[in-house]
Amino acid sequence: MTALLEVEDLRVAYGKIEAVKGISFSVEAGQVVTLIGTNGAGKTTTLRTLSGLLQPLGGEIRFDGKPLRGVPAHKIVALGLAHSPEGRHIFPRLSIAENLQLGAFLRKDADGIAADIRHAYELFPILGERRNQAAGTLSGGEQQMLAMGRALMSRPKLLMLDEPSMGLSPIMMQKIMQTIAELKSQGTTILLVEQNAQAALSLADQGHVMEIGKIVLSGSGETLLHDESVRKAYLGED
Ligand code: ATP
Repeated sequence: MTALLEVEDLRVAYGKIEAVKGISFSVEAGQVVTLIGTNGAGKTTTLRTLSGLLQPLGGEIRFDGKPLRGVPAHKIVALGLAHSPEGRHIFPRLSIAENLQLGAFLRKDADGIAADIRHAYELFPILGERRNQAAGTLSGGEQQMLAMGRALMSRPKLLMLDEPSMGLSPIMMQKIMQTIAELKSQGTTILLVEQNAQAALSLADQGHVMEIGKIVLSGSGETLLHDESVRKAYLGED
């Protein structure tokens, strides 16, 4: 079986600085795959390249059987790859409902869009309760929910989440992680970038540890969760 996403020897640079130095990994349909690692390891750069926001220096990206190199970002969304970026980037003056509508900007099926908005409100009831409120009035965690809900509105084949737990209270973080688990159980394929290695590995089928632009360790979420070097470096154990 070919994977939904295949990344081979991907290299990305900002000017002369190579931030991603030849990484390879794949995501099978229905899997949750996580990239973990310290600040500056190149995780966000990898997601931005997969979305078409950055052009790679080298390597291959295949999504759903098609090469992605050189394909513009809006076409990549249309192919089924959605990105919920770090720092959220919701539209603060627009209402919650309007933000969700914008996530469906490539779709024309009004009934399907309405059904997916209802689904977002089921996943995140707080968004439904506040649907007509300006999105900027939501808390950080609620804005994260909105960003995830909006990314889902394109009905993606692959959902990429960049640090969904960043800056959230432990309770909010737990809620976001529960939602990711729920999406997984509904069959959504997810590529998850997280600083919170414990939470990410607990959910993931596969994990990859990145350090200064390279993947230094790969394995099942379970294996990495119990790996001594991972526990020391990322789970705060001596
Ligand atoms: P973080 O969790 O801090 O976002 P990360 O693993 O996602 O870390 P990246 O944001 O991908 O890491 O950064 C990888 C490297 O690229 C870092 O050394 C960073 O300083 C550098 N970098 C990121 N964005 C830019 C940019 N716009 N211009 C120049 N260098 C950049």
